[in-house]
Amino acid sequence: MKVVLIKRMMRLFVMLYLGLITCVSFAHESHPVSYHAQASKESASFLALTSWLSSLPGPLKSMPVSSVEESGFMMFDALNPEQQDDNRPLMLQTIDDRVVDRQKSKSPTNGPSLLGRKVRIAILIDDLGYNRRGMLGALQLPKEVALAILPMTPFAHQTAVRSKEQGRLTMLHAPMENERELKLGPGGLYARMSEKELKAALTKDIDSLPGIQGVNNHMGSLLTANQKSMNWVMQTLKQHHLFFIDSLTSSHSVAGKTAKKYGLKTTTRDVFLDNIRTEKAIDRQFSHLIKVAKHRGEAMAIGHPYPETLSYLKKRLTQLNKDGVVLVPLSQILSHNAPSL
Ligand SMILES: [Zn+2]
Repeated sequence: MKVVLIKRMMRLFVMLYLGLITCVSFAHESHPVSYHAQASKESASFLALTSWLSSLPGPLKSMPVSSVEESGFMMFDALNPEQQDDNRPLMLQTIDDRVVDRQKSKSPTNGPSLLGRKVRIAILIDDLGYNRRGMLGALQLPKEVALAILPMTPFAHQTAVRSKEQGRLTMLHAPMENERELKLGPGGLYARMSEKELKAALTKDIDSLPGIQGVNNHMGSLLTANQKSMNWVMQTLKQHHLFFIDSLTSSHSVAGKTAKKYGLKTTTRDVFLDNIRTEKAIDRQFSHLIKVAKHRGEAMAIGHPYPETLSYLKKRLTQLNKDGVVLVPLSQILSHNAPSL
């Protein structure tokens, strides 16, 4: 009798154990993090991780989607232009959002097959201004590549003048407050600013760069999600007849939407080229840019004045024929609607 009881208890124990194992493995496999961890694209797994984190209660919930992009740091000794020549590590001061993907609002309705038009890509290099080598490298890229400059930085004025002389589209790279409290450098725009303060700061940024035609945000995961601040930004840009590019450093950005509301010419960044600064990774991002462009008819990428990015683009942009795409100035892919205020 006793033996039978022990045998039954052992069987029950084994069944409970097997049941537990099954439950755990099911939960593991069905979990978005585990699923995406097997996916080939790093961005997919990161976004899955962040979306999972944001679904959690407590402090983890506040982890921003753009945490990777704004995990950069500012190298303020770079402010001394004399130290900026050649062999120093380039542009360590800024990292824009490199994570948030923009696949949301644009449709393939104006795709090339429908209009018989060539597939178009546009490229913007931003974060310029701190570094002479970055400036010189960017100025050697094809004239269709636009440049965006951080205001009141050592090479800001010179970069703007030389870029304009080349007939190149030149922009202000407006520093905007981020969720990680990373320093913005001169001319920063903050959510705590009043309407008067923010508009004055932005106007000063604009006035510091001769001949600019548009603006995109540097960082800005906090500010671009602030509707009130974005209204003031777009009102100021409208007054100065400038277009706006949303760098999309936060999935909560209302910047692009607000630019449209005010009737500004605008578009949104599709791809960051150099979140990972290796030729292989940049090449992968460039292929992604072409893929998006082929799907939709056009796409735009943002890169940074890293030696790896500049040398890659210098070579790669001469080989676009084989891809069946054409590099166009950023101004040619801006959309323009009537204001909807
Ligand atoms: Zn930037």
